Formats: sequence, C-alpha cells, structure tokens
Amino acid sequence: MLNDSFGRIHSYLRLAVTDRCNLRCRYCMPDTGVDFKPHHGILTFEEIHRLVSIFSMLGIRKIRLTGGEPTVRKNVSRLVSLISALPGIEEVTMTSNGILLAEAICDLHRAGLRRVNISLDTLRPNRFRAITRRDGIDKVLASIDKALSLNMRPVKLNVVVMRGVNDDELRDFADFAIRKGVTVRFIEFMPFAGNRWQSEYFISSDEIRKRLARAFVLRPLDEENSSSAREWEITGEGTRIGFISPVSDHFCASCNRLRLTVDGALRTCLLNNAEISLRDLLRRGASDEELALSIQASLNAKPASHPGIDGLLKQENRTMIAIGG
Ligand code: SAM
Ligand code: SF4
Repeated sequence: MLNDSFGRIHSYLRLAVTDRCNLRCRYCMPDTGVDFKPHHGILTFEEIHRLVSIFSMLGIRKIRLTGGEPTVRKNVSRLVSLISALPGIEEVTMTSNGILLAEAICDLHRAGLRRVNISLDTLRPNRFRAITRRDGIDKVLASIDKALSLNMRPVKLNVVVMRGVNDDELRDFADFAIRKGVTVRFIEFMPFAGNRWQSEYFISSDEIRKRLARAFVLRPLDEENSSSAREWEITGEGTRIGFISPVSDHFCASCNRLRLTVDGALRTCLLNNAEISLRDLLRRGASDEELALSIQASLNAKPASHPGIDGLLKQENRTMIAIGG
C-alpha cells in the first residue's frame, strides 16, 4: 500500500495525458507564449501503461485522465482501454472541458471510461468566449447531455468562481444542477504560473455557500473521506452542490492522490513543486522494483499540507496544464 509518513493511504492517481488544450481559460493559461512539452518528452501510451501497472501493484485503484485537455490527445480511448484492463484498476475517469467530448464519449465509454467531470464556468455564450477565449458552449452542453444519456452518473460540473467574472451565476448553476440532474462543484481560484492570480478575483467557498443559502436550503452531507469537495444537498431536490476549497480550507489531511505530469514527473501534491522524473528512470532502463522504490521514496517526502496563499504566491510552480489539473 502507498502509505505516506502521515498515515495517508494513496489509492488515486491523476494522470496528465497532454499539456495541449483547445481552450485558453484565463484562470488557467495565457493565450499565447505557452511552452508546450516537445512530443519526445511526453510519455507514450506504452510508458503510461507500464507506470500505471506499477502504481496498481502498489495500491492505486482509481485513475483520472486530465491535462491539458485529455480529449485532444490522439487515440486517448486506446489508453483508456489499456489502463482499465490492468488488474487492480477499479475506475478510470476523466476531467474534460467538454468541447470534443460529445463526439468521443461513446468510444471512451466502450473503452472503459466510467465517469466524467466537465468544466464549465458560465452558462452565457458571450461570457464563455470571454473566459475561455474560444467559442463552443453549445458543444460543452451537448457533452453534458451525452454523458447523462450514457448514464455515466454522477456527472459533475467544475465551476471556477471568480469575483466580478461569474459570481453572479451561482444561482443559475444551482438551478441548472437541479434541472439536469448533475452535481455542480464550485472551485476556489488558485494561483499558478502564468494565470495572473489576484486576490480581488478570489471568492471563498464559505462566501459562495452563504450566498447560495439565500436562495436554497442547504444541508451538509457526510464527508466522503478522501474527497476534495465538501458536498451539500439542496433540500427537497436531492441535488448535490460541492465546494472545493484548496485556498481557504485545504483538505490535505485526507489527501489520497498522486499526480503524474505529462512528461512523467511524479508529484505528490498539486500545490507543492517537489517532483521526481519517473520518465527519466524508465528511459534509463530502471526495473519495476526500482520504479516502485522511487515512487515510495517520493511519497515518504510528501508534506503534511501545501503552503498557504502567501507561500503559494512566492513559490515557483508549473502551469496547471503542465502539472495536470
Ligand atoms: N481541460 C480539462 C478541463 O478543463 O476540465 C482538464 C484539465 S483542467 C486544468 C482541470 C480543472 O482545473 C478544471 O476543472 C479547471 O477548471 C480547473 N482549474 C484550472 N485552473 C484553475 C485555477 N487557477 N484555479 C482553480 N481551478 C482551476
Ligand atoms: Fe484548457 Fe482545462 Fe486549462 Fe481551460 S482549464 S485552459 S480547458 S486545461
């Protein structure tokens, strides 16, 4: 089992399959001047398969494909089928911006993809264009419907809330969740390299919840031990609303996740820049045992929690797409 020095058991791996994206969300990446990893630096499907087989032997049970936008990686459904066939892997899921998902989701589902989280920060087409610097809200909405029609439930929507940008849509999102039967998760805006984080845009989960409570009766649900989202139910509707609070109230004590970046670096924390390159070890001919020992050594050094906002603002970190969100 992948135990760290604080007794946290790690069973969940977030896997960045690409650092490329077909959107340019303002809170995530700049419009131009992004340094993408060269193709030879990116893990091949065979390399990912080998690493995931080692992770599964060590106790990883759940894999989430992310990026960048995972659906822009060619033949990503082949990767899904490769890793979902590995013994020990119980669930393969994906976080997607939904632009290409409607066309890819049947293949992905057949290949073994069980659930999707879809990111959508506004329900207004003009605002969608302003936030993502691209068109395509109709495609995202179609992807949500398609995931629901395939019964890939719960379908979760990720909404990064920014003051003065989309915080006037909280109630619209809650109504949307009730109408569609999806779970909406409001995420606090986090600072990363190149995303121009400013405190004036930041709005805490607590404030979001209080504002929603003016329109809905919310009941806290029992916490799922390792979930990053604290979930509440809209009373009478059975709809769940989640709050992800990495900045105001981190969930590090119950963290069960590891991350593998697009270039094969193992990160034990999204917001702590320590990493080791499993790709380099693998390409130098390391055995499975050596790779497993490196994974465990990295986990032994995992800190109790990530830095607070002042530390985060001072820390050099990769961009979100280079880590894998
Ligand atoms: N492209 C996919 C997507 O957008 O769903 C997957 C990768 S994206 C980096 C993963 C998640 O991170 C998305 O839900 C996105 O909204 C969130 N995210 C990106 N930048 C963020 C930031 N600065 N603060 C909080 N969440 C962020
Ligand atoms: Fe692309 Fe996702 Fe980042 Fe938006 S949040 S730019 S969709 S990787």
